[in-house]
Amino acid sequence: MTLTTTPLPADLLALDTRDPLAHTRADFLLPPGVIYLDGNSLGPLHRSVPARLAHAAQHEWGDQLIRSWTGDADWMHLPDRVAAKLARLIGAQPHEIAVGDSTSVNVFKALAAALGIAPAGRRVILTDADNFPTDLYVAQGLNALLGGGYELRAVPNTEIAQHLTPDVAVMLLTEVDYRTGRRLDLGGLTAQAHAVGSVTIWDLAHSAGAFPVDLGGTGADFAVGCGYKFLNGGPGAPGYLYVAGRHLDSAPIAIRGWMGHADVFEMAREFIPAPGARRFVPGTPQVLGLSALDAALDAFADVDMQDIRAKSLSLTSTFMALMEPLLARHPLELVTPTAPDERGSQVSYRHPHAREVMGQLTARGIIGDFRTPDILRFGFTPLYLSHADVWHAVQGITAVLDGAALDGGVA
Ligand SMILES: *Cc1c(COP(=O)(O)O)cnc(C)c1O
Repeated sequence: MTLTTTPLPADLLALDTRDPLAHTRADFLLPPGVIYLDGNSLGPLHRSVPARLAHAAQHEWGDQLIRSWTGDADWMHLPDRVAAKLARLIGAQPHEIAVGDSTSVNVFKALAAALGIAPAGRRVILTDADNFPTDLYVAQGLNALLGGGYELRAVPNTEIAQHLTPDVAVMLLTEVDYRTGRRLDLGGLTAQAHAVGSVTIWDLAHSAGAFPVDLGGTGADFAVGCGYKFLNGGPGAPGYLYVAGRHLDSAPIAIRGWMGHADVFEMAREFIPAPGARRFVPGTPQVLGLSALDAALDAFADVDMQDIRAKSLSLTSTFMALMEPLLARHPLELVTPTAPDERGSQVSYRHPHAREVMGQLTARGIIGDFRTPDILRFGFTPLYLSHADVWHAVQGITAVLDGAALDGGVA
């Protein structure tokens, strides 16, 4: 336990002292005694959210009742206001984003739309064999629904480029691998997919809010993402769908609903799509969840995403460097690429007792994730983590792995 009293090295202290994002930490209500390395799974509570939720419940709902759909609260356009805040973070135009539904449902909407505009006769959906399970399941389910005529070609994410052949209808990828933290080349792979006529879908679950994303600049066709990870929208926060403006009028809307109609209260028999991506929001907006997400997104209002990326890389490289000595004496294997361009905002290690190790760390207030079969995953969120946190986390990891806090140790 002597390690935990080792003073913070001066170079790390200096990095924190000149951190342009140091002020945003106070905007998050993190419990004392916790180093939170799991904001990539559930972002923490932003300071503005409790009051916003209370207002939405007591005033907008309690007092104003149904008048809030069109009155001051204007719930009808809440998805559009959230889309406008999100647009900046992912390099989109506000009218290209439909906010609502889970990420899984948005994968379904995106894949149905992408298959609908892919060149006729193509039958391959190219994806990552280790993609997040929901993306694979949705593709399997949609293929079954469409008669089973598509081939789901799932290959290692290091081999995507060589499998981009002219039979690929849609390339469905997650930019940052949820286990390893490997970041794919969104711009390069999009260009290669377009060169063979394929349509692209990017899952930005571990990208949006973690580093700058430029969907417009890269020419990506479709994207989806989560509201509750790096965007801190709260448990079950609505996800989103991005549809490049050039596809809005041709991409089929698999789930047509009255809320995606151009004139909702017209109650027309025929579906006439709303302008922009709002046509992809089929049902009643999830007002309480959207309210929390809307408030939480203000955390990004006056931060530069380049600063977020620079600090993220500094935190993750500091973490890897401090962890380095442990690799020599424990069965610990780094699975996250060390090249900055090739990683997102998480660092993962394999360890044969990963589940027990993470249990011990969580008991010490160092909260990361265990992912099957043997992955220790640590997420780094520049808005509320410092280099001092990284230092203290590694002291705790060292104590757990060296067995200082254990009966007999886990190694
Ligand atoms: C977290 C995550 C999801 C989550 O999907 P939900 O429908 O919101 O549960 C989807 N895709 C990826 C890549 C994820 O990491």
